[in-house]
Amino acid sequence: LERDAFAARFEEGRTRDGHRVEVAANLGNTAHTADAVERGAEGVGLLRTEFIFMAHAEAPDLDTQVAEYRQAIEALDGRPLVARTLDVGGDKPLPYWPVPQEDNPFLGLRGIRLALTQPDVLETQLRALLTAATGKPLRIMLPMVKDIAEFRQAKAIHDRLLEEIPETERATDVQLGVMIEVPSCALLAPSLAEEVDFFSIGTNDLTQYTLAIDRGHPELSAQADGLHPAVLRLIQMTVDAAHARGKWVGVCGELASDAQAVPVLVGLGVDELSVSARQVPMVKARLREFDLAEAQHQARLALAQATSEAVRDALEAL
Ligand code: PEP
Ligand code: MG
Repeated sequence: LERDAFAARFEEGRTRDGHRVEVAANLGNTAHTADAVERGAEGVGLLRTEFIFMAHAEAPDLDTQVAEYRQAIEALDGRPLVARTLDVGGDKPLPYWPVPQEDNPFLGLRGIRLALTQPDVLETQLRALLTAATGKPLRIMLPMVKDIAEFRQAKAIHDRLLEEIPETERATDVQLGVMIEVPSCALLAPSLAEEVDFFSIGTNDLTQYTLAIDRGHPELSAQADGLHPAVLRLIQMTVDAAHARGKWVGVCGELASDAQAVPVLVGLGVDELSVSARQVPMVKARLREFDLAEAQHQARLALAQATSEAVRDALEAL
């Protein structure tokens, strides 16, 4: 089966009855983009740009960043790139950007909160992304957003750059989205969906914050299961709100490559799954195993359970 999946890796992501679901790759290193394409990735659904920053002894300047992002854009040859702006703090410290000692780093200065304390760093990154993608489409997303105020602050910088940089020197078709990783954003998705271009659900953090379980906890992390019905309801709210406004929704957390979760996510209406590059053939093969009506049935079944164990048992029993 794995051989078959690999042989069919360049087919578009579709369910058995042809319902389209884009399968993209998560990357932390732009040098791996060509490899992801070779494994069948239809784009990059999450470029974790913090790893580019971590690979340098000091903040990479504009030209260094442009060269980095260009490597991904060129290897993608027109396929979509979703670049996430710097997501440090929490479990990902950046030596040259010290964050004060915090009792709860996961509830502290991280993601967009941290980035907005130094808007010039965010501005340089956005400028680098926009200019690296000259003449090409580009999707940019913001990590750890908790409400629309943070989105608007970042969007103001983004919009100013779009005015400032001549159109011939920057990306042409730019989408600005937010990650749904904090429950408040899923709950407020209907109003957010009016202003963002897309959502990408980070189920690793969304599960952590919904269940109040540290995703890296040595004993508890196994219980941080994204198939928990509470997490699934937040995903449902997010997708419904986005689709009501004609916006698309991806999932870029680990749940996207969980064989039991794939039909549930598709049944909830998710448009894109972004997974580690080596999982791309498997996820595409999984999509071909069910049709949309079955997926919707599985989603309804999962939503009706009370615990993640009950969800997995109910899906297993089908
Ligand atoms: C997530 O939280 O699900 C996510 C994709 O982001 P990261 O794992 O990089 O925090
Ligand atoms: Mg995250």
